[in-house]
Amino acid sequence: MTLNKLANSTRVPGEQQVSRDAGVAESAAAAWHGAGLAPARALPSQRSLRFVIVIGLVLLQVVTVAGILLSQHVNEQQVLREHMKRTMGGVIDEIKENAQGFLTPAQNVAELSRRLFEAGMISWSRRAEMERYFIEQLQVVPQLDSVYYGDRNGQFLMVRRERDAGEHAYLVKTIELSAGVRAVENRWFDESIKLVAREDVTADTYDPRTRPWYKNALAKKDVVWTDPYVFFTAKTPGITTATPIFNRDAAVSGVVGVDLEIGKLSEFLSEQSVGARGAALIINRQGDYIAHSHEQRVSRDAETGELRLTRIEELEDPIEKAAIRVFRDPGELLNFAWLNVEDTLQASFDVAGEMYHAIFRPFPKMSPWPWVIGVYVADTDFIGPIRRSERNKIVLAILVSGGITLVAFLMARRFMRPVVALRDELDRDVLTGVQNRRGLYEVAPRLVEQAQRSQSPLSVVIADIDKFKNINDTYGHAVGDQVLAAVVNRLRRAVEKEDLLARYAGDEFVLLLPRTEIVVAGQVAERLCATIRGTPIKTTAGEINVTVSLGVADLRTQQDNFELIFNEADRALRFAKVNGRDRVGVASQMPTSQDTGFAAR
Ligand code: GH3
Ligand code: MG
Repeated sequence: MTLNKLANSTRVPGEQQVSRDAGVAESAAAAWHGAGLAPARALPSQRSLRFVIVIGLVLLQVVTVAGILLSQHVNEQQVLREHMKRTMGGVIDEIKENAQGFLTPAQNVAELSRRLFEAGMISWSRRAEMERYFIEQLQVVPQLDSVYYGDRNGQFLMVRRERDAGEHAYLVKTIELSAGVRAVENRWFDESIKLVAREDVTADTYDPRTRPWYKNALAKKDVVWTDPYVFFTAKTPGITTATPIFNRDAAVSGVVGVDLEIGKLSEFLSEQSVGARGAALIINRQGDYIAHSHEQRVSRDAETGELRLTRIEELEDPIEKAAIRVFRDPGELLNFAWLNVEDTLQASFDVAGEMYHAIFRPFPKMSPWPWVIGVYVADTDFIGPIRRSERNKIVLAILVSGGITLVAFLMARRFMRPVVALRDELDRDVLTGVQNRRGLYEVAPRLVEQAQRSQSPLSVVIADIDKFKNINDTYGHAVGDQVLAAVVNRLRRAVEKEDLLARYAGDEFVLLLPRTEIVVAGQVAERLCATIRGTPIKTTAGEINVTVSLGVADLRTQQDNFELIFNEADRALRFAKVNGRDRVGVASQMPTSQDTGFAAR
């Protein structure tokens, strides 16, 4: 039976069989015997060095990336808010321009009509041209609802767009006085201005001179705009502009009126990107909705059964209520004192824990439409996509820094190789190839701690060649070296892989046996002793009989450390030396140091 086998089966006597899967001890010991290096006291070990480098790099990465992301985040929030303000301002301007672009053609039509009248190119006596001209205006400007002319005598010509009336595209209404006889007639034309129907409606008592547009233009002697209202037929909000026509005596001979449908403004507002919870709106000085991105909010049934514009105090949407309240109390808002402010009003507010941003800007003071445009958006609707892109950025940053860390790790491993080789050399005894004292101190204390943690036994054996000095003296140092190498070889072959063998000093070797009771360690020592003694060592100077003395000690208490066990084993070794050499001293079987006069080294 070889010593290995014996050791294997008798490591722990009795039923106290310690499981071999104490992975920690095994891996530490494996690292010891293998090419890997164990931690040293003076130099950080390969593992801890690599660990430090990798952890350092990872931390550096994390801190850098987090720093960049954080500063970016802070910047981004500011930039975003700024950007949002600008964007909302841009939306407002666009709405304003669009609204003006919508309204101005109506005024242009009225103005042009006036000039044509005053130049004599159209007149009541040339009604056919007037009619044709009015129809053309409706054809060219789609938002026009009707164009009409009323004169001082109550005569009237109106062309109105007929919506959803099949081939009846245009209605022409005339109120004519000829020789004091009043005739009222409706005629319908199709798209190609072909007469499709006519109707005598003389019973109609309509008199243009009683209408507000006529009276206002006459009174003001200038272009007028009415307040918006809901067209009865089209059921959409509209507005009328009217301009007086002067004769050569500078007296008003009649008034041209243009009805304009402004419902399309709502359509335009609904196309603005204000998010699901946001809205764009236009309100007038009287507190009526003129346009809204939710078109249905603009008009509602009046008590009379007719349609009228919704008023802002009738707001139902809590967000919109809050948006308007940001600037003024609704009651006060109706006075529109703040309308005179040319500046943009901008603020943020909270509704049910959600943040919103609102912006209000009046039409220019001099414009004929004293309206206010408002836009409000939910913070998350606006910043949401950018937040998502921020999240993507974080994922990307993690991936990139992960990649960098991996590369750094591989590079660290590559650069660690010479360090590893150097460490290997530092820990290894050049002559015998086993660990040296430095190497021993790297691993031994850890193995002791592990044994204490796992409450498993651990023994230390010290072997010292007997009278080695004599060998040196007799055969010379070179032969002495051969003997040292041969002894190590025998010891190495005789112990298990997980056992730790080190050259402690000149001819002194330490064997650390994890999970080994002292009784077993004593047996191992006996066999080592016999192995060395049994066969003379072949050297260049011939065969030399060599013997060793061994001391054995083990881990006794939780307070023990490697130093202590080592000293005990050394004491047992010296006991063996004193008692004739070529033998084993076991610390547990020895009298105490006071009894023997032996003191720990
Ligand atoms: P003891 O039985 O008491 O141990 O007697 P010893 O002669 O072995 O005494 P000691 O342990 O003091 O002697 C060790 C000697 O080993 C002293 C030293 O010259 C020698 N020695 C130390 N290192 C080497 C080495 O690397 N090669 C050789 N050849 N000899 C060494
Ligand atoms: Mg010796």
